[in-house]
Amino acid sequence: MGMIIEASLFTRKIETELVKEVERLKSEGHNPSLSVIVLGNSPSTMVYFKNMSHKGVELGFYVELRKIDESVGEATVLELIKRLNDSADVDGILIGLPLPKEYDVEAVLHAISPDKDVDAFHPFNMGQLMIGKPRFVPATAKAIIALLENYGVRIQGTNAVVVGRSNIVGKPVASLLLQRDATVTVCHSKTVDLARYTRAADILVVSMGRPKAITAEYVKEGAVVIDVGINDVGGKIVGDVDFDGVRPKASLITPVPGGVGVLTTLMLFDNVLKAARLNTGKR
Ligand code: NDP
Repeated sequence: MGMIIEASLFTRKIETELVKEVERLKSEGHNPSLSVIVLGNSPSTMVYFKNMSHKGVELGFYVELRKIDESVGEATVLELIKRLNDSADVDGILIGLPLPKEYDVEAVLHAISPDKDVDAFHPFNMGQLMIGKPRFVPATAKAIIALLENYGVRIQGTNAVVVGRSNIVGKPVASLLLQRDATVTVCHSKTVDLARYTRAADILVVSMGRPKAITAEYVKEGAVVIDVGINDVGGKIVGDVDFDGVRPKASLITPVPGGVGVLTTLMLFDNVLKAARLNTGKR
């Protein structure tokens, strides 16, 4: 029976490190700060970003959460981003996704200065990651690597299979695994015979957004299984992996909830600290 990867076992340690670094920057006269812009009126998006902001404040960050009516239009949002880019008091900028459909997502995300791009969506930061010189790394991908490392999972020389090729999870985590010398296969919706690839995986990372799509027959005996999926099924949150069916075959497996998602917010604030160091270094 596979051991469950308990992300909460590491949160205290990571939080302590974050608080220590926040205190150090404060002692040098800089309060690390994050500006969050949420457009539109989706209550679930707002709840998510409010919870995230509370966590940041708890860790000692200055967090400004702006809820903006989508009717203001893209030009106004771009102007606001420019002001935040130019402000020495703002370290990181985050745009709540998804954006209302009349907004050009790329135009908005790419307007954020690469030095304040804590979600790591800017092509400069994505490019740095692809060439093996990561600057900002998307928080979820960082959280996955942190879980593997904290559980002492050997990555070098393994067959790692990533199901999903999104810019926010699949591609960055594949890149980080490659940099750690795994042999990486990336699968997607057009992959023919998905199980043929997943069954060869020593490390299987699943980010599909398909509830319980990965069942036991997709998994090799002894595999390490990382489930990124967060799916609301009738009010219950489930992952992309059929946890009960897969656990007996896996050596290690993340639960949903309680796995990758637990560390994601902390990794985001780790990126804010990086932005703060870049920002203070410029003065
Ligand atoms: P996207 O929808 O952007 O990407 C899904 C990926 O899965 C795509 O590459 C798609 O392929 C692939 N896919 C879909 N169906 C299949 C299939 N049947 N077989 C193989 N591949 C398939 O999703 P995200 O990566 O943004 O998110 C995925 C999940 O992770 C969601 O449940 C989301 O809520 C969750 N999530 C969790 C986070 C956390 O911190 N824990 C953070 C971010 C997301 P194609 O490219 O061909 O369409």
